[in-house]
Amino acid sequence: MKVSVDPDICDARGQCNIVDSELFTLDEDGFSDIGQGKPVPAGKEAAAEQGVEICPVQALSLEE
Ligand code: SF4
Repeated sequence: MKVSVDPDICDARGQCNIVDSELFTLDEDGFSDIGQGKPVPAGKEAAAEQGVEICPVQALSLEE
């Protein structure tokens, strides 16, 4: 499983980081800095799905 952010959509709301601060890291301005295709570590799948769902602007996406 991999997770990506669309940097054109991310609005620095920080909700993903609250779900899992290790997986959904933020830059110093509060924008997601996970990039494209960040591997989701074993055991973090549920957190990844929750973070993607909670983003208020749908900036995050998952791929298997
Ligand atoms: S929740 Fe969405 S808008 Fe907020 S930092 Fe994460 S990706 Fe960006």
